[in-house]
Amino acid sequence: MAQGSGVLIIAEHADGKLAQVTLEVVTAARSLVDAMGGTVTAGVIGAAMDGVAQALAGVAGVDEVVVVEDNRLGRFSGPAWTSAVIGIIEQVGPAAVLAPGTTSGRDYLPRVAARLKTGHAGDAVEVSCVEGKVVATRPMLGSRVQVAVAFEGDGVATVTMRPGSSARAETTGESAQVRTLNVTITDDDLTVVAEPPEGVASGAQALDGAERIVAGGRGLGEQDKFSLIEELASELNAAVAATRPLADAGWRPHSDQIGQTGAQVSPKLYIAVGISGAVQHLVGIQNADYIVAINRDPDAPIFKIASFGIIGDLFEVVPALIQELQAVKS
Ligand SMILES: Cc1cc2nc3c(=O)[nH]c(=O)nc-3n(C[C@H](O)[C@H](O)[C@H](O)COP(=O)(O)OP(=O)(O)OC[C@H]3O[C@@H](n4cnc5c(N)ncnc54)[C@H](O)[C@@H]3O)c2cc1C
Repeated sequence: MAQGSGVLIIAEHADGKLAQVTLEVVTAARSLVDAMGGTVTAGVIGAAMDGVAQALAGVAGVDEVVVVEDNRLGRFSGPAWTSAVIGIIEQVGPAAVLAPGTTSGRDYLPRVAARLKTGHAGDAVEVSCVEGKVVATRPMLGSRVQVAVAFEGDGVATVTMRPGSSARAETTGESAQVRTLNVTITDDDLTVVAEPPEGVASGAQALDGAERIVAGGRGLGEQDKFSLIEELASELNAAVAATRPLADAGWRPHSDQIGQTGAQVSPKLYIAVGISGAVQHLVGIQNADYIVAINRDPDAPIFKIASFGIIGDLFEVVPALIQELQAVKS
């Protein structure tokens, strides 16, 4: 494929609403375009995408919105999204494609790169332009090392951006142009379709853009005690989350898991309850503005990055906090 120009971003959405993480990718795309020229095109893929497309058209930094709509795309399918993104790339001709590094972004974008036989960088925290080439910066070894991945050749550079790595683009009063694209999605593309988990609200959705998060870890001791986390979260109007052992044990859905193999979040406030602070967990919360840790072990690693630490038994501290919050409200 000949060298393109500008940047295409692929929007993430759920329940007909634009996911906040998309706004971060717009910011990254805008800075890349400012450095290497061209425009920012935002691609929307799904069914009944009017609301999402209009919301995206009003985001600062988006020059054009292109929509691929098909009733069969109502639920996420990695292979179908792959074909849709390739169809968009063929018609838009970008130099780079950026997508959120979410579960779905990490599914379809490497497939796109493989099918186009082009380069891919996953989990980038920054994209820049050096001597006309796209360079993605990605952390490795639990964020101890930053690696610059330079894209060579004429192929389109494909990059998934780590959630929380850029500020969110703001909404303006203006509206970019929206146009519909036709791409070919075959029935073979739809053999694998993601089903939403039954009986639980999607954690990923609740965590996306959450300003406050209360997370529980193995210090809770047993599944029933997670209700303490839910109670504190409810007082703070916060989303709930968990460490990997809780997700692995089936105490919480995987979509609630924060960390290297879970969601990466950027709330204003993150309250870690009974969480030791393993590096694989910390990479998911390093963009939080304030971290409050409640742990009975004064040497727990979580205290090294916490803005405020409470050394104590969570079964005493959390009920006391809940009581205080209720007292303040009344
Ligand atoms: C490849 C790989 C990927 C991984 N990905 C992730 C990931 O994405 N997310 C993730 O979270 N983990 C991940 N892990 C696991 C990670 O290494 C840790 O094992 C995990 O984060 C620990 O979870 P925890 O803090 O809940 O449990 P623990 O490490 O067991 O910590 C429990 C804490 O609770 C405290 N505590 C106990 N009782 C009380 C009490 N009554 N009051 C107050 N404090 C108390 C203890 O002092 C302790 O600090 C990954 C591991 C690997 C190898």
